[in-house]
This record gives sequence, C-alpha cells and structure tokens, in this order.
Amino acid sequence: MIRNSPQSNLPSSEQLVFPAVSLERDAPKQMPTVSGSPAVSAGKILVVDDEMVTRKLLAHHLEIAGYEILTAENGQEALTSMNSNKPDLVLMDISMPVMDGLSTLRMMRQMHGSTDLPIIMMTSSLEEAQVVGCFDAGASDYLAKPIQQASLIARIEAQFKLMRALEALRESEQRYALASQGTRDGIWDWNLDTGEIYLSPRWIAMVGIEDPNWVAHGTSWLELVFHEDRDRVLSDLEAHLCGESSHFETELRMPDHSGGFRWMLCRGLAVRDGDGVPTRIAGSLTDITEGKVADALTRLPNRTLFHDRVERCVEQYKRNGTRRFAVFYIDVNDFKLINDSMGHDVGDEFLIQISARLDSCLRQSEAVLSRLGGDEFGILIEGINKIGEAMKVAERIQERIKAPFSINGREILARVSIGVVVVSQKNASVDEIMRQADTAMYHGKQFSENCISAFEDRMQQESAARLEIASELKDAIRRDELSLAYQPIIDSSTMQTAGFEALIRWHHPVHGNISPNDFIPIAESNGMIVEIGNWVLQQACKQATIWNQKSDREIQISVNVSMRQFSGSDFLEHVQTALAGSGIAASQLKLEVTESLLMQKPDEMIELLERLESMGVTTSIDDFGTGYSSLSYLHQMPLKVLKIDRSFVANLSESKKHQAIVRSIIGLAQNLGLKVIAEGIETSAQAAYLQGLQCDYFQGFLYSKPVEAKDTDEILEKDWSRIQ
Ligand code: C2E
Ligand code: CA
Ligand code: CA
Repeated sequence: MIRNSPQSNLPSSEQLVFPAVSLERDAPKQMPTVSGSPAVSAGKILVVDDEMVTRKLLAHHLEIAGYEILTAENGQEALTSMNSNKPDLVLMDISMPVMDGLSTLRMMRQMHGSTDLPIIMMTSSLEEAQVVGCFDAGASDYLAKPIQQASLIARIEAQFKLMRALEALRESEQRYALASQGTRDGIWDWNLDTGEIYLSPRWIAMVGIEDPNWVAHGTSWLELVFHEDRDRVLSDLEAHLCGESSHFETELRMPDHSGGFRWMLCRGLAVRDGDGVPTRIAGSLTDITEGKVADALTRLPNRTLFHDRVERCVEQYKRNGTRRFAVFYIDVNDFKLINDSMGHDVGDEFLIQISARLDSCLRQSEAVLSRLGGDEFGILIEGINKIGEAMKVAERIQERIKAPFSINGREILARVSIGVVVVSQKNASVDEIMRQADTAMYHGKQFSENCISAFEDRMQQESAARLEIASELKDAIRRDELSLAYQPIIDSSTMQTAGFEALIRWHHPVHGNISPNDFIPIAESNGMIVEIGNWVLQQACKQATIWNQKSDREIQISVNVSMRQFSGSDFLEHVQTALAGSGIAASQLKLEVTESLLMQKPDEMIELLERLESMGVTTSIDDFGTGYSSLSYLHQMPLKVLKIDRSFVANLSESKKHQAIVRSIIGLAQNLGLKVIAEGIETSAQAAYLQGLQCDYFQGFLYSKPVEAKDTDEILEKDWSRIQ
C-alpha cells in the first residue's frame, strides 16, 4: 500500500498521492505528471504487491513513463510470471502473504544473477536492518514507501542504464575476446605508471616463448628484440610517448622457435592524462616475415633472406673453418626480350616456371633458392667444398633449364647464365661472395659456351677494365679515335655492290682496336651511344656523297642504330641533320635496327618507322631470327629489308635445322614483301644455297671484310660473280 506517510522526511509535494476515488474508476483524464525525464527506452516491469491499489497505481504511472507492465499479487505468482513473461525489471514489495518479498527475491536470484535482472524492493520502513537484508538477498536497489514519483522513475531508469552499460561492456568484452582470439596478431598493454605489461598468449607464442604465463615488466621485453633493431625501436617509442609521432609503429626482428628470427610490425597508441603525460600504451604485434622476406611472385625467399642465410653460413665457416658452401648467381638470358615482346604476364609466368624448375634441381640437397630480383636467382648449397662439385650442380641446372617451357600454349626456350663461387678464406664476407658470384655470372654470359663460369680473380680486373672503357669512351670522339669501316652488300641479281654497312671502329692508343661488341653495349648503358650514333650517321652520310661522285648507281649506306638512340626524342632531327649536312637523298640511307629493339615497344616503333618512311628513309630489321617477333606487328611495320642473323648462315652447310630456318625466313620475308640480306657468308657453299633460295643480297667475309673508307673505291668497281 502506498502511504502518504507523515513520518516521511521527504517533501510531500514529491510524493505520489493518489486520490482514492479515482482508483476504482477508469483512468483519470488528467494524469498526475511524472517528473524527471521519460524513460530512454521502454522495458518490461513486473510489479509485485499484494495491495491491488498499489499495484494499479504503480502500473498506471509506469505505463505513462513508457514501460510495459506485468503485475503479480504475491511471490508465487511473481515467479510464475517471471518464467513465462521474462520481465526486464522487478519491482517488489517486501511484506506479502503466501511468500514474502525476501524469500521470493532469493528464489529469483537463483534463477537470474544481479547483472541480468534488476530487482528493486519496496520497503515500508527505512530501518537499516531491513535495507541490509534486501541487499543481502540480492536486491539491486530499494525504495521506501511511500514512494515518490521522481525517485521511482529515476531509480528504475538508473537500473536500466546500468543494465545497458553492463550489456555494452559484455558485448565489447566479447568482441575484444573474439578479436584477440581470431587475430593472428599479438596484443600488448603496458601500464607506464606501474610497469606492468599484459601480453596476450599469442604475443608470447609469436616470440618463441613456450610458457604462456610468461610475464614481462617495464622494458624487459626489449631484450627479446634483435640487438641491431633495439635502438631504433626505443627511439620510435620515445618519439610517440613524447608526442612527436601520432602513433607508434616500428619494424623489428624477434626470435622464433628455430633459433632464427622473424620480422614483426609493432604498433601502439598511448593513453595520456589531463596534462598529456602518457600513462599507458597498448597495441599489436604482427608477423610480417612473409612479406618482408618472401618474393611476392615466386614465393621464394628474397634477397634480404638470402643474404641472411649466406651470412649464417659465413659465420659457421669462420667458426669451424671446415663447413664450406657454394653460392650460385643465376640470370635468365634475354629475359627482357621475352618480357617486352610477349608481355609481362608471360614474363611473370615464365619466372614462376623457371623458379619451379630450379627448385626441382635442388630437392635432394640442403639448399636455399632465392629470387634476388628481376630475372636473377641465387642458390646457396651447404657442404660443397670444391669448385668442381659446384660446377657439376651448375651443369645439372643448365641441363634442366634447356627443356622447353610452355606458356599460354607457346614454347619458349631459355638459357640461364650461372656464376659460381665456393667460400674460402679470401672471400669470407657476404658482400664479397655475392659480388664475385655476380661477376662470374656476367663473365659466363659473355664468354662461356655454356654460360657457366666459376669466379676467378682476373674477372674482377676485367670488370674494372669495363669501367675504364666507359670512362675512356667519353673522350674517344674528341681524340679522334673512332672511325668507320664499310662492308659491301652485294645485289645477288647483278653481283655488283649495292651498298655498304657502316661499322664503327675504335683504335685505342694503348689497348689497340676495341671491338664494337665490347664498347657499344657500354655506350648504350651509359647513354654515350646517342653522341656516338650521331657521329656515325653524319660520317656515313658524308661517305655516301663521295661514292655519289664516283659511281653512277645510287650506293646505299646502312647505318646501325641502337635502342637508346632510336627511341630518343630527337632521333628524327638527327637523321634530318645528317641528310641535310651531306646532301644525299633520303632514299640512299638505310637504318638497321635489331629485331629485339623493334619488338620492345612495337606500337611506338610502328609510329616512328612510319615517320621515317614519310621522310624517305628505309629501315631494315637486323639480326632476324634471334628475337621473338610477333608476326602481326611485323606485318604492320613499314620495313623494307630483313637481315637473316649470321648464326643461321654460319651453320647452313651442317645443320638441316638451320637450312629449314633460313628457308622459312626467306619465305616469310617474300610473303611480307621484304627484301632479304644474308649476312656472315663465309663460304661458296653458303652463297650457293642462298642463291638457290633467291636471297636478294649477300654480305660476308667471302666477299669482303669491312674495309677502310679509302678502300671502298675498288670495291665499288668489283664484279662479285667471279667469287662464286
Ligand atoms: P652487326 O650489325 O650484326 O654487324 C655485322 C657484324 O658481323 C660486324 O661485326 C661484321 O664485321 C661481322 N661480319 C660481317 N661478315 C661476317 C662474316 O662473314 N663472318 C663473321 N664472323 N662476321 C662477319 P662488327 O663490325 O664487329 O660489329 C659488331 C656489332 O657491333 C654489329 O653487329 C653491330 O650490332 C654493332 N655495331 C657496329 N657498328 C655500330 C654502330 O655504328 N652503331 C651501333 N649502334 N652498333 C654498331
Ligand atoms: Ca647491322
Ligand atoms: Ca647483324
């Protein structure tokens, strides 16, 4: 019963005073207002009181406040209703017949914990013992009768708020628990005031510690960090703690189970007090070893990891001096050609297949295969003591690579160049070993029949010589050391000289004649080729004017153009200058560009060739058969002449295969409307065979070696038919 207790020390204006008359009638039209804010959200409240009047009054007012109301008139009924109606809150009188409030409360608490279901008891006195009794039995709160409207609503709302807060906390705890279980990251939380650190079991496992209860305190965890990374980690941490960086993020190496280390990304954020002083910092630890040490395309260890493995072997070797090992530096020959002419997807697939093939060569041995970058691979094999053993491995690799690769239905033949080094007292450092293996590989590519080479000291001198060439070449034009030699190109129908190919010569004051094969690639790589190439163009065109004075035929001049020169933005201007400077007709000049050059950026090349054609200059495709031409592009290119590479001509007599290749190249050229030059003709047999295939032009030592300008007069007069 709600009583307007005269003893109440609460102000009567706030008490719920209900007119008795209205109770047995319909709800009054003018409801007493309920002070305080309305409920944030409705809840289901079970009101338990033996007094019908109290029940109805409470129900009435709580409904107005937005709640849904259930009622029960004793404990028994309340328990039944609770089971079937699942209220969100119980408001219950203490003194009731049948089963009193405290007994009911105890039974309810057996079914629902205090964080599940708030139960507010209504007491008729404020006696300490009774209030304490309520709380002992599990009450969430109590209200003394007579009940005040404001405190009724406020207390109920307070309970609901508390429930919602508890619910949110439970959810966020669950979410955190799920997240930290689900994540592969380790979690850490460092109290900077006390030094206590929470480390999740995952964090502990990640750094190779087997005891999941391992604890760290203060900066003791730093001892786990790889010594070389420690200072950097500390300075990154300090930068964040003193507010210089918005968050803490650092990469570091930590130990793993096997005694090696793994790369980790450690991230964190500091919590600061009102003065901005950091009190706590928490964050995550992510294992980034894969991305850090594995090559994304082939999934092989990358250069960093490879160096690390070589380093470990070097250390072992230094300790015991007996366990030797070999390093192989492998480079795919002409990979750029494949990549540029067939596209990057084919190039990528090719690298994946090469890495699988290399891997298959190493299954039995204790070896590390790595992609060092681009088309370069490294292999480390422990337990190899002699260079002879290492060379056998290299030969086995070369043999396996020889079998054709099949990519997108196309067959690709590949070769690799292999440099081999076996560790010794002389080269016992990672950098030295890698440099030597690289030098040996380069040497193998240039000079060895099977592209395999073991490092020798002299190779270092040769690469020094290459550097010297590069620096001396800069002065060669100025010092007048360059000249042109001319090799006749013979028209097979008339057997007269149709033109000459200009070939550059370098007479070095100390080293004598240096072959263009040795210095053109260097000039190409350091950019000197543009200046040298322009000089050749001008010189060759000038020479053609001399022939014009001596011969009544138009003598062609063929000039070799390299990639960097041809694709330079002002190449056309240079051609124009050379033509204008000499006064020869554009039709007299032929440019020779290699097949591989044309196929690198075929669309751009088509445009350039068209512009040259509109100037009247024709272009020949040089070294045909050595690259990977796409017929559809060849067809679109305004070319006039195709030069069969001399490697095919050289083997014409012995090799049926080469005969077939030459036959089909000539057939292809005829279909595309191109004239064919066969270069490198050294024997009459070769000439006769080519004559039979109706090859248009001949060039080679059989007729003449490249000669000095002054000797070309005689060649112009020659009738070559007698040579055959
Ligand atoms: P290339 O364009 O394929 O020139 C033909 C090469 O084959 C010349 O070598 C020539 O002397 C040689 N040769 C001609 N007939 C025969 C023969 O019957 N048997 C043999 N074994 N060889 C023959 P060279 O003069 O040493 O030139 C080598 C390469 O250097 C040229 O190959 C060309 O790629 C490049 N080169 C020469 N001069 C220039 C130039 O002015 N500019 C550019 N960019 N490259 C040049
Ligand atoms: Ca040429
Ligand atoms: Ca050639």
